[in-house]
Amino acid sequence: YYWFHLKRANIINWLKNQHFSMTTDRSAIQLIDEEKAFHQSALQYFQQCIGNRDVGLDYHVISVFGSQSSGKSTLLNVLFNTNFDTMDAQVKRQQTTKGIWLAHTEEVNTTIEVSSDRPDIFVLDVEGSDGSERGEDQDFERKAALFAIAVSEVLIVNMWEQQIGLYQGNNMALLKTVFEVNLSLFGKNDNNHKVLLLFVIRDHVGVTPLSSLSDSVTRELEKIWSELSKPAGCEDSTLYDFFDLQFIGLAHKLLQEDKFIQDVKKLGDSFVMKGTDSYYFKPQYHHRLPLDGWTMYAENCWDQIEHNKDLDLPTQQILVARFKTEEIASEALEEFISKYDESIAPLKGSLGPLTSQLVALKEECLSKYDEQASRYAKNVYMEKRESLNGELNTHISGTINEFLETLMEKLWDNLRLEISSRDKASTSFVDSLATGRTKVESDFNESVGSFKKLELLSSDKEIISKFSNEFEEKIKQLRDAELKAKINGIKKNLVPELKDHVIHLLSHPSKNVWDDIMDDFESTIQSNLSSYEISKAEYDFKVGLSDDENAAVYKNIRILAWRTLDTTVHDYLKIDTIVSILRDRFEDVFRYDTEGSPKLWKAEEEIDGAFRIAKEHALEVFEVLSLAVTSDNVEIMPDVPIVEEDSSEGNEIYRDNEGIFHSRRFAHILTELQKENVLDQFRRQINITVLDSKRSIITTRTH
Ligand code: GDP
Ligand code: MG
Repeated sequence: YYWFHLKRANIINWLKNQHFSMTTDRSAIQLIDEEKAFHQSALQYFQQCIGNRDVGLDYHVISVFGSQSSGKSTLLNVLFNTNFDTMDAQVKRQQTTKGIWLAHTEEVNTTIEVSSDRPDIFVLDVEGSDGSERGEDQDFERKAALFAIAVSEVLIVNMWEQQIGLYQGNNMALLKTVFEVNLSLFGKNDNNHKVLLLFVIRDHVGVTPLSSLSDSVTRELEKIWSELSKPAGCEDSTLYDFFDLQFIGLAHKLLQEDKFIQDVKKLGDSFVMKGTDSYYFKPQYHHRLPLDGWTMYAENCWDQIEHNKDLDLPTQQILVARFKTEEIASEALEEFISKYDESIAPLKGSLGPLTSQLVALKEECLSKYDEQASRYAKNVYMEKRESLNGELNTHISGTINEFLETLMEKLWDNLRLEISSRDKASTSFVDSLATGRTKVESDFNESVGSFKKLELLSSDKEIISKFSNEFEEKIKQLRDAELKAKINGIKKNLVPELKDHVIHLLSHPSKNVWDDIMDDFESTIQSNLSSYEISKAEYDFKVGLSDDENAAVYKNIRILAWRTLDTTVHDYLKIDTIVSILRDRFEDVFRYDTEGSPKLWKAEEEIDGAFRIAKEHALEVFEVLSLAVTSDNVEIMPDVPIVEEDSSEGNEIYRDNEGIFHSRRFAHILTELQKENVLDQFRRQINITVLDSKRSIITTRTH
């Protein structure tokens, strides 16, 4: 038991040591090296410092500058428990390595106890050269100071007490430059950002009170400010529009070590006493960039300073915000896409679960974005959020389309089934279609509506118009099919009826046969269309067509009827048929008496008389069989175009010079030559009949 405790204590100690060594290993990195290059792994360094904590905006940046060997690094190491190189640490009293050094701390040295909520502080130590050297080094000094102003909240200006009042101390010369450039950079300082200039007076003996030292420095600064050449619009701006000033005196580190440490600890209090008046990290000083954006911002700033470009800080911050929000958005989108297919696949068929899953995926992605990106400039963050939302919707639109397509197919199948299985006696096609259509549209719009309501669709206009066009096309096809079936039904009756009637009339023609044929033609059409007639020559085929469309269908039916009439007439009235019709008429009169009994011839004169009458009777219809005219002697003409407009090669020959089609004219049944031919045959045949009749008398006599 005892042994166990010993062991346990050891382990705890060991763990404590581990922790201690981890948090105190604050070897600084050279953020900007002697060659003025920005540290390429700065971001990694930050990540190491932070681990996987979410720091957000809760971090601070502080810089120091002042002449070489004025004890800056020494102060920082005591104040922040950092590990910057100092002269003392160097074996030979050579200069420390030039550049801007960066260290991280959570452990500010304070007099008060700070248990939790220690902020992450990043400390920049500017390691310059002695003021004695000129030229190139002065250039670095100036750039470093500008950089420090651009990226930090608090700038410590480190100076010896005895330097105060001696303008030659290059701190003040440098501050003048910094003021000047700062003013040209920020102009009127509309966004009210400020930097705290914290003057730390070293080796403050105490003979001259701090207040008079600070008055003296303040006067000097105000004088510098008044002498600045100010850009247009900033003539009236004051030092205090851009900077807050604080003064602190520290005891001599080597002569009054304890006092020095005590003074530093008191200074440290001001970095941790959040919410008090003496707290140094005012929100107004913060650049409002999350830590991961800060590195990029700092690098951009350095790049601009180094290359002497205009250092437009607000623009820099926007650029960083753009880059970062973009990065965060695409990360969130990537994650969304990687999960998408798998989580959507099983829900594709049912609206409710599908939409709630889509909403969940979307919300997850957006809140991932919000979590990190909302810390950046608000308008940049919102703008990118909008476009991320758009990208998500684009991705989702594929699924929505697929869903709607399947839905539409299902609704369409139902509609067709309903129409085809309706009780035809009580429900018309048109009514059934109208009811079905309303149902399809409302079901469909309801689905689209719920996608829209949940903001899964950016716009429903496009999708609705796409689907309604397709739906309209399908309805048209359905109507066409219904119409086709109806027309076929009409055709099946109408065509043979017309044929029969015409042939019947023509086979026993009267002189007014064409009047009869045309009367019959119209009445046959009419009786076949009786169920569609709404008024004289106006029809509704009951598939939901417009008046014009109905009229066009009726016209086509007339064309069909006319074509039937045309072919029937011309096929039937060939030379032989006409000859035999004429002969029948002749024989009816010649051979039979009015009672219909065969005549018995007694004398040849009798035969000649009858022959003349019979022949005249027969030929009474010859003209109407060779030319279709009414009893008023008007040539019959179709009232619709019955010849197909066919422009193919072979038909060209039928066109006259005006290009009018003349393949055949309805009324013209026989040509003059054909008429001769008919008459010849007719005469020959009736002559034979006459001869036979005469011979029959002779035969009777010889008996
Ligand atoms: P830096 O170049 O400004 O960073 O100065 P260092 O921190 O490297 O210190 C330069 C020298 O000043 C070292 O030898 C220190 O021992 C010494 N030093 C540090 N602090 C003080 C101080 O408060 N008073 C005086 N007189 N010397 C100091
Ligand atoms: Mg130093």
